[in-house]
Amino acid sequence: LSDEAQAVIDKIDSENVDFLRLQFTDILGTVKNVSIPASQAEKAFTEGIYFDGSSIDGFVRIQESDMRLEPDPSTFAILPWRKKENSAAARLICDVFNTSTGEPFIGDPRGVLKRAIERADDMGYEINAAPEPEFFLFEEDEGGRATTVTNDAGGYFDLAPKDLASDVRRDIIYGLESMGFDIEASHHEVAEGQHEINFTYDDALSTADNVATFRSVVRAIAAEHDLHATFMPKPIARVNGSGMHTHISLFKDGENAFHDGADEFDLSETAKQFTAGILEHAPAVTAVANPTVNSYKRLVPGYEAPVYIAWSDRNRSALIRKPAARTPAASRIEARFPDPSCNPYLALAALIHAGLDGIERGLDCPNPVRENIYEFDEEKREEYGIETLPKDLGAAVDALEEDEVIQNALGEHVFEKFVQAKRSEFQDYLVSVSEWELDRYLETF
Ligand code: GLN
Ligand code: MG
Ligand code: MG
Ligand code: MG
Repeated sequence: LSDEAQAVIDKIDSENVDFLRLQFTDILGTVKNVSIPASQAEKAFTEGIYFDGSSIDGFVRIQESDMRLEPDPSTFAILPWRKKENSAAARLICDVFNTSTGEPFIGDPRGVLKRAIERADDMGYEINAAPEPEFFLFEEDEGGRATTVTNDAGGYFDLAPKDLASDVRRDIIYGLESMGFDIEASHHEVAEGQHEINFTYDDALSTADNVATFRSVVRAIAAEHDLHATFMPKPIARVNGSGMHTHISLFKDGENAFHDGADEFDLSETAKQFTAGILEHAPAVTAVANPTVNSYKRLVPGYEAPVYIAWSDRNRSALIRKPAARTPAASRIEARFPDPSCNPYLALAALIHAGLDGIERGLDCPNPVRENIYEFDEEKREEYGIETLPKDLGAAVDALEEDEVIQNALGEHVFEKFVQAKRSEFQDYLVSVSEWELDRYLETF
């Protein structure tokens, strides 16, 4: 047993953990659990735990379905909402292996991100990332089902008593902190019932793990307050949706490779090429970073979400923004298009590969756009050479099918399963009849 694994076994003992949840995510980003009694922990570390992969969305066919989970000891955490005096449950995030080859399973999203990190490493870079997931808190009905009634009427940075959720937010923060999160800030977002909690940047893999954990903690603790937390990107029409802005920087030999104090924007040539790469691959990355039908209801003008493919050093209508940085180490770019319905492993992998492609090809970064792009007409956009993001999930999947760099980022297996699932999701949407249509037409015709 490695030292790290032994430390976990000791913790399991001292903290009275009786059940361990072994977690991984499917291609769509849903967290999956296999629960084992604590007595099996040692075996999980030495031999792994076997499971049937054919029942997991997008994994494997029935005839090659034996998979093995290998827990990553650095991800051990006690689940705060399950803690009792003399018993506790904990989780470990796992890598998935193919039992017939013994190799990492190519369909494991965490493995997809690890490949992106390796590519960066081969180029001499370490990646730091920090997401800003936003979410809504809704009341539950008598049956405990989610409604779209917001639990408060607060607005951006409002304080109690209007911000009734600050109690819930506080409990969520305690929960996250007990699981090892370093919380930087939390505030009421622009829309009623909308919130944001920011945690510190970390290496790319830990950050993706953190997003997966964050979503479950927020949901579980909101539920204790009889509230439904949702990361659906646009639950209410005509108000701000929920984004997951993602801050990224690359470090080389311990120095921030994105920083250049001599540059007007504090950005190095590397940072600009990385930015250019994301701009070039944005339509395909969108399919991964904004993977639901509903994602595209957020990416419309007027709600602080991007629509146009451009970067800016100040304005928030751009796809990528250069935030003000207090120190050289903090120079970074902020990709503003991802939303929290994405699979964080795949979305980060796609962003990383897009950016690295920009560096590898030495792409030229266009000039920043300082005006509010929402107010540009088509002519002005053409003059500035500004393209538009895909307008719906179908168009985004089309773009993904034309972009080999992002396809390779996912790998053939994930790419195929992802496209299949998203095509069918979009088709299902196209043939459905919405409330809007009934309201508009039922009595008119
Ligand atoms: N909710 C906005 C979005 O969809 C962002 C608002 C903000 O963080 N200032 O991206
Ligand atoms: Mg923020
Ligand atoms: Mg925000
Ligand atoms: Mg932001």
